[in-house]
Amino acid sequence: MAKTKHALSPKFSLILLNLFIVAATAAAITTANTNGFDSPSFKISRPWPFKKLNKPVVLMISCDGFRFGYQFKTDTPNIDLLISRGTEAKHGLISVFPTMTFPNHYSIATGLYPAYHGIIMNKFTDPVSGEVFNKGLQPKWWLGEPLWVTAVNQGLKAVTYFWPGSEVPKGSWTCPEGYCPHFNLSIPLEERVDSVLSHFDRPEDEIPDLLMLYFDEPDQSGHNYGPDDPRVTIAVSRVDKMIGRVIKGLKKREIFDEVHVIVLGDHGMVTNCECDEKAIYIDDLADWIKIPSAWIKSYSPVLAISPQWDKDVENQGEKNAEVVAKMNEALSSGKVKNGEFLKVYLKEKLPERLHYSESYRIPPIIGMVGEGLIVRKNRTNAQVCYGDHGYDNQLFSMRTIFVGHGSRFSRGKKVPSFENVQIYNVVAEILGLRPAPNNGSSLFPRSILLPFGATRDLT
Ligand SMILES: [Zn+2]
Repeated sequence: MAKTKHALSPKFSLILLNLFIVAATAAAITTANTNGFDSPSFKISRPWPFKKLNKPVVLMISCDGFRFGYQFKTDTPNIDLLISRGTEAKHGLISVFPTMTFPNHYSIATGLYPAYHGIIMNKFTDPVSGEVFNKGLQPKWWLGEPLWVTAVNQGLKAVTYFWPGSEVPKGSWTCPEGYCPHFNLSIPLEERVDSVLSHFDRPEDEIPDLLMLYFDEPDQSGHNYGPDDPRVTIAVSRVDKMIGRVIKGLKKREIFDEVHVIVLGDHGMVTNCECDEKAIYIDDLADWIKIPSAWIKSYSPVLAISPQWDKDVENQGEKNAEVVAKMNEALSSGKVKNGEFLKVYLKEKLPERLHYSESYRIPPIIGMVGEGLIVRKNRTNAQVCYGDHGYDNQLFSMRTIFVGHGSRFSRGKKVPSFENVQIYNVVAEILGLRPAPNNGSSLFPRSILLPFGATRDLT
């Protein structure tokens, strides 16, 4: 645990500076700190300009696996309405690596890369304790400070509805009854929307400041059928109808223009097939190196290898480097099928833009798998196609959507793509919260939000 950093340190600050080089954010970003907004102009001290709600409110909705571009598959009048009246990441929101559900939802919530918030994959083994994380709720796995904790720590009210990680007790957050239902995918999307909307019918001083809602579609359909299947188009339409239900419910309560609605996803989706044409088989590397199955913690979309050397083997780091060298020699030999679509790294040698080394939980050897390719130990004769995600976050197919609507978001504004670790500071700024240390830039919100008090004409 000691090596998994989630508090500000000199090295952490250095990483923060490096972020500005890789994050495709607004050009104005030139430096960073993690102290939040110190400028008096960002303190909420002016009269709130609205009538129904006496405070800023954020409703964030995650549509799992909503690949950027899905909005062009079919009519999405409700998402289109938010885009036309709000601010959109023009070419999509960039997920963090690995582009998996739990790491990304928790990066959105904490502003931290997975190496710092601890959820390095959906499923992984702690190399020290040997314990397996598999989307479990034990607090020890979940590092950093998610938005709902920041909110309640600073006296605000937060509601979560199935957001990954939100059922984990943390600090003053205990997943309170009535504000944090327990995960149950059988609950229809309509019921989730109506439950969240019902919080606006509470007495004024009980209305939450922060609401975070999770839809498991269109991810499920994307996995089952692949992103180009007509059933995914139907799922996209259904998600849009749920956004419409949110808009209608807010309009009915005459608060549509007062609530900041943020619609986003966690990652994209790409077709992959369990067939020889799209596969790389580890056993095909046997002439160069034999990799025991016990070493392989994950095959794809991220190949993760943790060599199990005998305790008396010295220089295990060098031995790991030899494994990497031999694997890459095999893969680039031209004799391994699809070998050109897998590149293997010691984790500390991964491209810096991935921010995927600073955790002891990350296995020492990571293979970057080509878009839509799979890795298996050996041939299985399976012939099935489906959809998956988890690949390099630089791939366009791994991008998702970001739309912000509400008084702090300009009408019809398009912003360059940015990484989802920036969102924590955006929400903190809207709510007037002091952000916890995180990997986002404290200046980023100024590139996407209107200053407080300069709210646009909403008529
Ligand atoms: Zn997901």
